[in-house]
Amino acid sequence: MTVATTTSASELVSVSPATLEAVGSVPRTDPRDVHAAVERSRSVQARWANVDAAARAAVLRRAAAVVREHADAIADSIVAETAKPRTEAIANELYTAVDQARWLAREAPRVLRDERVRFSQLHLKTKKAWLIYEPLGVVAAITPWNIPFGIPFVQVAASVAAGNGVVLKPSELTPLTAVWVQRVLEEAGMPAGLVQVVQGEADVGEALVADPGVAKIFFTGSVGVGRRIAAAAGARGCPVVLELGGRDPMVVFADADLDRAVDGATFASFLNAGQACVSTERIYVERPVYEEFTSRLRERAHGLDLGPLISEAQRDRVEQRVDATRPEREGWFLEPVVVERALPDEELFGPAVSVEPFDGEAEAVARANDTEFGLAASVWTRDLAKADRVARQIETGIVWVNDFGYSFSTGQAAWGGVKSSGFGRTSSKHGLYERVRVKYVDSDRGRLRPAWWFPYDDETERALRAALDVLYGEGFDRWRAAWRARRDLMHLVRRSR
Ligand code: NAD
Repeated sequence: MTVATTTSASELVSVSPATLEAVGSVPRTDPRDVHAAVERSRSVQARWANVDAAARAAVLRRAAAVVREHADAIADSIVAETAKPRTEAIANELYTAVDQARWLAREAPRVLRDERVRFSQLHLKTKKAWLIYEPLGVVAAITPWNIPFGIPFVQVAASVAAGNGVVLKPSELTPLTAVWVQRVLEEAGMPAGLVQVVQGEADVGEALVADPGVAKIFFTGSVGVGRRIAAAAGARGCPVVLELGGRDPMVVFADADLDRAVDGATFASFLNAGQACVSTERIYVERPVYEEFTSRLRERAHGLDLGPLISEAQRDRVEQRVDATRPEREGWFLEPVVVERALPDEELFGPAVSVEPFDGEAEAVARANDTEFGLAASVWTRDLAKADRVARQIETGIVWVNDFGYSFSTGQAAWGGVKSSGFGRTSSKHGLYERVRVKYVDSDRGRLRPAWWFPYDDETERALRAALDVLYGEGFDRWRAAWRARRDLMHLVRRSR
């Protein structure tokens, strides 16, 4: 039995922030019961797939309102499980859910409606055809703890909007908040059971990945786990989208608005105590402003009140890598750290950032790309033409100019990485396309017999060869080819009757 079907979210969030105990007491799903959750979702999804797009959109529109109604309780739950600042729970998670739900409500019916295919080829003029978008069935969403409401909400809502059922396995560190995703959608009118939540650790995730009823896996988490999941899914021919970690660069040119760049760097590096997949972990500053930028960043970072890291192990890991100091407070806190040297090419996932100087555009691009990761990057300059040039050369899935991170919350912006940061996209029309099968369907009264069908003979072969230049030739050459091949063309016309 899954916790989600037996425990109401309102009971869960009434648990006080002495939450660890509560989190520890959430019943784990027995991995052997995962299949039953997939089947329950499947039985509801079969009907949901046939609900028309406008009715599905209405559920998403109401879901945005339901998130706003329960905003305080959801924020309580996020803060209780992660101890992140409440401002971040609101700005990064609630805004994301509301914005994405509203975008899906508005755009999913348009993006996923049957798309007429047009033929300019003469020999296909009798055809009508469409690209149609069919739901996949039941998909899995496996999600991390760092954005415990926003990430599962986006993954689940987009899948549901496209007509799928979902089995969600949230992080074992934030099981309570994820239940809100299911509750919000059900309150908004989604059929009960379409979204199932299974709780537990790697063994529950593994059971979900292996389940033959799961049509696609949407994984957000670390590179190592993502690759293991992709391998297991690949072994049974199941597609995956991987939203993995990063080591994102920030490139600051000498002509940047330094106040904004320092402010932006502080936010981008220390938001969520540095535990964001798109945290800025490497800052490259053009030499003329390097000293000033670095000293101002140190000033801004000093004494910045961050939330704790998610675990003691995580704190120890970051501490060892960057010689961090621990503040007076007990617990899993670290001071923000600014180091002026290159760090190893591994995701830090803590409140630490390296700053180094560079000379000129080409070096900026080379330094930004000198990593196995490729999630996001930011470029800071007053010269927007230069920003655009640099942005196009940076090997990441996302580049912001004079800004950071906001597009996670916006429905129309594609989200996802390249290189070790993963593949596939969340959000935008591409996020919706990930959640459907594209089917090509045509319609033809069958009055013309294709000239290239059996039987083969020399005359037909010669005529087909000549028609190649007539059908696909350019400009005047095409007309000349038609004149030369007029007899061959007549042969093809005769064969087509
Ligand atoms: P993680 O990889 O340890 O765990 C993610 C999820 O996978 C959890 O639910 C976990 O229980 C599950 N899991 C673990 N082992 C599994 C297995 N063998 N089979 C199936 N499921 C398994 O990541 P985390 O520590 O929870 O999250 C932090 C990571 O997530 C960071 O690397 C961060 O960069 C990344 N992240 C990426 C994005 C993005 O959009 N690209 C967003 C947020 C976080």
